[in-house]
Amino acid sequence: LRVTLTPIHRREHGISGTIAVLQDITEQERLEQSRREFVANVSHELRTPLTTIKSYAEALDEGAMDERELGQRFVGVIRNETERMIRLVTDLLHLSRLDSNQGLLRRQQTNVPEMLEEVADRFSFQMRKKAIRAAVHVEDGITTVWLDRDQIDQVLDNLVSNAIKYTLDGGRIEITARRVHARAAGTEFTTRGSGADDQGRLNARADNEAGDQGRQGPPSIAISVKDTGIGIPKRDLGRIFDRFYRVDKARSRSMGGTGLGLSIAREIVKAHGGTIALDSELNEGTTVTVVLPLITGGETA
Ligand code: ADP
Repeated sequence: LRVTLTPIHRREHGISGTIAVLQDITEQERLEQSRREFVANVSHELRTPLTTIKSYAEALDEGAMDERELGQRFVGVIRNETERMIRLVTDLLHLSRLDSNQGLLRRQQTNVPEMLEEVADRFSFQMRKKAIRAAVHVEDGITTVWLDRDQIDQVLDNLVSNAIKYTLDGGRIEITARRVHARAAGTEFTTRGSGADDQGRLNARADNEAGDQGRQGPPSIAISVKDTGIGIPKRDLGRIFDRFYRVDKARSRSMGGTGLGLSIAREIVKAHGGTIALDSELNEGTTVTVVLPLITGGETA
């Protein structure tokens, strides 16, 4: 807190006193700090593949190209690292559009059961490769919702792809949709460490106890992606939506992750006036729940 005191004297009016200006600089400093961290992270994330590409290109130049098999392997590495950089830059551009509110929503009437079946279908090949079984459950009566289909597809793709990445062979993934009454959807985004409860859980809660409906927020739809994967240690839960935050950097990198998937998901959900929360038990599994206000008509929220 910055306090500035300015004495005032107005003898002609017989007034004297002090003006006190209280300025909360902690918030400002925190923003500045996280901006610096973000730039450092981006630089590091881009530098790593670039360094790899440079050294493999040099090795090719210095003779590896003459050995066919070795040459092919090195070119493969260069291609992989290039693809990683493209993914990273694409994610960064997407985030920056969402940040600057250019990510306007193009809401359309969307059939929820279909949308969830389709996301499961998109990943059926990857799931089959790991012998992961998938189930989609949609509560009776849920049909269409007014949402930006492309953006929500991206959220679901991120969540399902994480569920697959961080689940061992033979695991199970459940995608479910149910009606809830969100507590003030859209306002409870306290995902920084301080906003999480003692278990690191985010303060976004959905709740559908019948008697509570009057007090609670608008009717919403909760879409959950639940896996039986490796889980996340409690101490990491509070930061899991932070940009570039990864429990295990090496594992995420080897899976092709950018560390931005959950941050992007959070921004998209926020733009929809919804909330996203993650709950996890180490070695048991993870559930991510997206709560979206149920806009069924042509409202343009
Ligand atoms: P990444 O590209 O690394 O997957 P995300 O932003 O999607 O980035 O996720 C951030 C981190 O959260 C991951 O690196 C991983 O440590 C953890 N995580 C996300 N989803 C899951 C999950 N379903 N199970 C276990 N860990 C997860």
